Amino acid sequence: MEKPEKTEVNDNVKVVVRCRPMNQKEKMMGHKQAVTVDEIRGTITVNKLETPNEPPKTFTFDTVFGPDSKQLDVYNLTARPIIESVLLGYNGTIFAYGQTGTGKTYTMEGIRTVPELRGIIPNSFAHIFGHIAKAEGDTRFLVRVSYLEIYNEEVRDLLGKDQLQRLEVKERPDVGVYIKDLSGYVVNNADDMDRIMTLGHKNRSVGATNMNEHSSRSHAIFTITIECSEKGVDGNQHVRMGKLHLVDLAGSERQGKTGATGQRLKEATKINLSLSTLGNVISALVDGKSTHVPYRNSKLTRLLQDSLGGNSKTMMCANIGPADYNYDETISTLRYANRAKNIKNKARINEDPKDALLRQFQKEIEELRKNTNVVFILGKKKVSPDKMVEMQAKIEEERKALEAKLDMEEEERNKARAELEKREKDLLKAQQEHQMLLEKLSALEKKVIVGGVDLLAKAEEQERLLEESNKELEERRKRAEQLRRELEEKEVREKLEKYTSLQEEAQGKTKKLKKVWTMLMAAKSEMADLQQEHHREIEGLLENIRQLSRELRLQMLIIDNFIPQEYQVSTAPSKGN
Ligand code: ADP
Ligand code: MG
Repeated sequence: MEKPEKTEVNDNVKVVVRCRPMNQKEKMMGHKQAVTVDEIRGTITVNKLETPNEPPKTFTFDTVFGPDSKQLDVYNLTARPIIESVLLGYNGTIFAYGQTGTGKTYTMEGIRTVPELRGIIPNSFAHIFGHIAKAEGDTRFLVRVSYLEIYNEEVRDLLGKDQLQRLEVKERPDVGVYIKDLSGYVVNNADDMDRIMTLGHKNRSVGATNMNEHSSRSHAIFTITIECSEKGVDGNQHVRMGKLHLVDLAGSERQGKTGATGQRLKEATKINLSLSTLGNVISALVDGKSTHVPYRNSKLTRLLQDSLGGNSKTMMCANIGPADYNYDETISTLRYANRAKNIKNKARINEDPKDALLRQFQKEIEELRKNTNVVFILGKKKVSPDKMVEMQAKIEEERKALEAKLDMEEEERNKARAELEKREKDLLKAQQEHQMLLEKLSALEKKVIVGGVDLLAKAEEQERLLEESNKELEERRKRAEQLRRELEEKEVREKLEKYTSLQEEAQGKTKKLKKVWTMLMAAKSEMADLQQEHHREIEGLLENIRQLSRELRLQMLIIDNFIPQEYQVSTAPSKGN
């Protein structure tokens, strides 16, 4: 039978911006609000308060969230469509980008003990298992999670047994880039997932002298893989697999500014490597002229290659702070986000992928079911479990008969006893084997979730909360749409207005001229900003080069002084003077 055509969806990376509220400390120190968020128009305006003559900068995005935004709204407006796609078998990625302290972790995780304050990750748990609970009864699901961290260009399995182990990034033609030996846990419900997340969390701080610093310098990737098996139009069972990456990136602030030196700078350079490569990948993707996208230059971009420009539905939440002292970082984040809007992805449903586990599990279950019912090797005979019970009874019976028999030589009796004992031992072995298979079967069966079964447990409340707020959101969205239309119409009307006198015309044109003049000034200041930023970036790179050259010279010195010439293999890079 012919396969239905694969549907590929061309979609840009969705970019949203979220501005957190001013915190207590900022208020106490008298910082001013520099950011204005217009949720209806989708714009963020940033004022440079120290130079009031400079025109404000305005950026437009798919969706923007002001300081009063609610976690549930953020979920429903941004993450919900992505999680829904993943449940259909698409890959999905959600990034949180921004300066440290702007709310990346708040957006991704939130405050997990308070239902209304939970972030995207825990809300996605409730959403996923709510969906499975509502699925048809003959649909089978397998849900797995893994959790890793990239720190200093090293990958650590946050769910692994050995927290000191560093994992390797590998590539295979059939499944693509993957991490060797990364543990994956099969989960059955939202609570399970929550427990696993907590476990990973505890491991994040292992070895970190300063948790805040560590988390601001590391990238955390929580991955949920959902496999779903259903009968297709061709009558065969098909597995669809969606992979969801939930990424809390390292703080995007410029490391140079913090005056790091030595080990710290080396770390900063490496942390910058993943983040700056991410930036370079984005630039190359939207530039249109680049033929090479440097995915391979960092662990992060290698792992998330599909998320940017590939087979994935991707959303980036750029987090910013509201206060004036963050002006530079805020602008830099908004520029970054603005660029990312132009990335084009090609998502498709992953059907019957090579690395799916569900079908393999289902096959094993079928096999085990057959085995546990029919065949057991006892000596050379094949017996069924029913037969084993019979055999047990028969042995008992024979034993009684043997003991009751009086006219028997002791030697003969012993022989008969030994023979019975051996039969009993064999039987016991077969029974144990049977028991083991039953246990294996039940363990496997537990991993596969049957659609339509209630799995939410405590998460049910959360799912309800999400759904309710989603309905409410729909209403608000309609109203906002209405408002936006009205605004647009008004603007158009103003443009079309005819002048009735020369004086009015002069006034109107002066107003327009002023507007254009402001735009010119804005563009000029934008250009100066960009030049400055570019300059700073070059400075940073040069500093990295200087640092690396120093290190290289030191290594060469050590080699030359401590390793005899004949041991220095000729494949080493040729030494400079
Ligand atoms: P990041 O992960 O980007 O470094 P955090 O998520 O840790 O930042 O946020 C820093 C602080 O600000 C936390 O105390 C967090 O609870 C608070 N915060 C961040 N965003 C919001 C928000 N939208 N509403 C309320 N508090 C927030
Ligand atoms: Mg954080």
